[in-house]
Amino acid sequence: MVARDIGAGFKPMASQCDHDDATKSYGSDRAQLVYGKRPDGTFAHIAEVQRGLACGCVCPACGGQLVARLKADRQVPHFAHHGGEACGGGPETVLHLLAKEAFRSNPTMALPERLGLDSRRVVSKPSLEVKTEFLRLEYNDPKTIIPDLYVRALGYDLFIEVAVTHFADDAKIQRLREHKIPAVEIDLSKLPRDALRNAITEAVLKTARRRWLFHPGIDAARAKQDADEIGWQQERDRRHAAAAARHQSRVEETAAAYRQALAKLAGRDIALPRQAELQAVGLAEYVGRDVAGFACFSEPPAVWQSIILAEVFHDRCLGNAACKSVPIANHLEKRRLIQKPFLRVSSEVADEINVIEARFASPWKAVDNYLKYLLGEGVLVQQGYEVACHHVRQSMERQDAG
Ligand SMILES: [Zn+2]
Repeated sequence: MVARDIGAGFKPMASQCDHDDATKSYGSDRAQLVYGKRPDGTFAHIAEVQRGLACGCVCPACGGQLVARLKADRQVPHFAHHGGEACGGGPETVLHLLAKEAFRSNPTMALPERLGLDSRRVVSKPSLEVKTEFLRLEYNDPKTIIPDLYVRALGYDLFIEVAVTHFADDAKIQRLREHKIPAVEIDLSKLPRDALRNAITEAVLKTARRRWLFHPGIDAARAKQDADEIGWQQERDRRHAAAAARHQSRVEETAAAYRQALAKLAGRDIALPRQAELQAVGLAEYVGRDVAGFACFSEPPAVWQSIILAEVFHDRCLGNAACKSVPIANHLEKRRLIQKPFLRVSSEVADEINVIEARFASPWKAVDNYLKYLLGEGVLVQQGYEVACHHVRQSMERQDAG
């Protein structure tokens, strides 16, 4: 906000330059001017002055001489610029100056709510009505901070900015922060430019929207929030690292278990379940395939593969002629044929195990590999996403009948 000293003496005539500047800044403002500036710097309402030039007032924005137009002139009472075009800046300047004037009588004002710290916790401190003590208008310091007002409240110094069209920008807020004096900005942009003194006072002290430009308590609370955020981030990172370590050891332990399982199964004597039945229908030759992942099972391939052919495809123990690899693997798990280290290996873990132990595949994948082998041999036929083995059933039924 351009600072205007309310106490400065008025200029006898506005220069053309001042007039142009004021028109440029406030040209869009069509409110009527209802306050003029008296020679002593105070404001006169249009109802308090004599008609015409006898009002003795100047424009608070450009300093140009004013004439009072009253009801007798068949107009809504207002001040007009004498012998020239209105600069347009008067109403806004009046609003700004009267808002500042409101603080001269040490009034009670509403402070906006803000963040703060309470026992090292970030809390929201509610809006507060406080008694103010007027210090001065326009505080100046070497760092070129020029607030509109300087008061004391709650025993502390407080800057007050009254914004009508120009709001504090980041640079200004940064200067206030360096100065470390709490500052509030009161937003009068919604107030009519020709509002009366009482309405302006009510708005500036209580009802108008307001915000903290700077408060050390807000900065402390934000610093705490940032520190908390960093703490949470570190905790998250620590948990992710721990989860990654657990994941890695699962991968390594499962790979090692698989190598042991391969060694254990090698050269074991086996008794095949339902061997005679499978032999009779010519399927005995399709069991005993060392498909990838076969060492996940507690018995050699010929055993669990015989069980798949006999129980799943002949007995239809899963309820249907057609089946998929995962339900079959679950059946084998129920039959306690899958070794514990290989139960519920996620595909992500399985992929990583494959990097260090290429022979590994998870149990359902081993079953799938076996089904693919049977499909290739014409023992199974594809039915959509499932496979079926009519051959086994029909042959075995013939066997049973014979
Ligand atoms: Zn003017």
